[in-house]
Amino acid sequence: MSATAETDITENAFSRLTAGILNLCTTDRWMEWLTMVNRFRSYSARNILLIASQRPEATRVASYSTWKRLGRQVRKGEKALYIVAPLRPSSEEGEDTVPFGFRYVPVFDLAQTEGDDLPSPCEVVAAQIDRSTIEDACRIAASLGFAVTFQELGRDTHGVCRPAAKAIEINAGDPEGQQLKSLIHEISHAMLHASCPDRTRAEIEAESIAYIVMNHLGIDSSQYSFGYVATWGKGGNSALEVLRKSATTIRTTALFLCDQFDRGASLRIGRSATCA
Ligand SMILES: [Zn+2]
Repeated sequence: MSATAETDITENAFSRLTAGILNLCTTDRWMEWLTMVNRFRSYSARNILLIASQRPEATRVASYSTWKRLGRQVRKGEKALYIVAPLRPSSEEGEDTVPFGFRYVPVFDLAQTEGDDLPSPCEVVAAQIDRSTIEDACRIAASLGFAVTFQELGRDTHGVCRPAAKAIEINAGDPEGQQLKSLIHEISHAMLHASCPDRTRAEIEAESIAYIVMNHLGIDSSQYSFGYVATWGKGGNSALEVLRKSATTIRTTALFLCDQFDRGASLRIGRSATCA
């Protein structure tokens, strides 16, 4: 395929992504998700740092009782994360009173809980795929120095990238289409985000790349990717702003990976898999 044709494909997928995100944010499904999100407290910068230092992969954090209200139970043996909450004199003056101290409050990450599904605009990619495409993705990861393992990660975690350990973990319990999408997402993190402090930008870039590359491989991941990008952007317009700023990074990385998959397909015969 010529370079121009390749660029057109990436270009078209990128436009579909932006239109799809805007459209999603007008649906009932999105509104249901927003209502749920508003139940979670927003944390101070200090507490966000505290959470990240104890559990870098944390996605959604709430107290034991909030999880219970949402129909989820903290798993036995899970260790609490601690955030600080101000101690204020009890008076009618409300939140503006000066705190006289602080106390540690235990909270838990979504992945430490089990129970009812939370409303989500993301639906797992159920497409059946050829296992050899996953093997190609493992080889791409290996060429970047990352080893891929497939294991049970719990229902709410699809993939993890650990840059320091040069490791990518994929949830073996997911359908293969979702595993491939997660793998491309984590490979994008491996390529771009080893030291990226902006988690929102990192997640939006990785998922957009995954969507474009999946498209190139003939698999539609829109039912997952649009919601993922929109939720990390906390809305259609702010997600699109990140997309606009990251457009070149997304397109360049997606093109590189599409090319790697094309090469993998043509060189597949006679090579051994690197998947563990
Ligand atoms: Zn990610």
